[in-house]
Amino acid sequence: MYDKILRERELKVTPQRIFILEEIKKMGHASVEDLHERVKDVYSSVSLATIYKNIHLLVGEDILTEVPVHGRKPMYEINIGDHVHITCPHCGSVEDNMDMDTAPFIAEANRQTGRKFDRVAVMLQGACSKCNN
Ligand SMILES: [Zn+2]
Ligand SMILES: [Zn+2]
Repeated sequence: MYDKILRERELKVTPQRIFILEEIKKMGHASVEDLHERVKDVYSSVSLATIYKNIHLLVGEDILTEVPVHGRKPMYEINIGDHVHITCPHCGSVEDNMDMDTAPFIAEANRQTGRKFDRVAVMLQGACSKCNN
């Protein structure tokens, strides 16, 4: 599946790139360091810099999306379109919320600025149920 996506973007299909994408899919959201830990288990010689380079390339091609997390390293996810992220500042957990509609917000932003926005990133921050106890 990911080899096809890479080929469509005319990117070289490498085992590391496929592995990175499969791991992000499994984890949902992952930092560069998380990914380096996992990739290292299989491809022991891969450096953190190589992971960075690949991630930034995949973000540039819209295959991955960068998810900023307040006060922490950004996370990366497979690009599934705009959705709301719910984060916990205590444990750093990141959840997707596909139900909240961001379209009214974009419409309002377009109206107020006269610009035409096509993407929005919403990050909600608050203690998760685990950290609240
Ligand atoms: Zn938490
Ligand atoms: Zn997400």
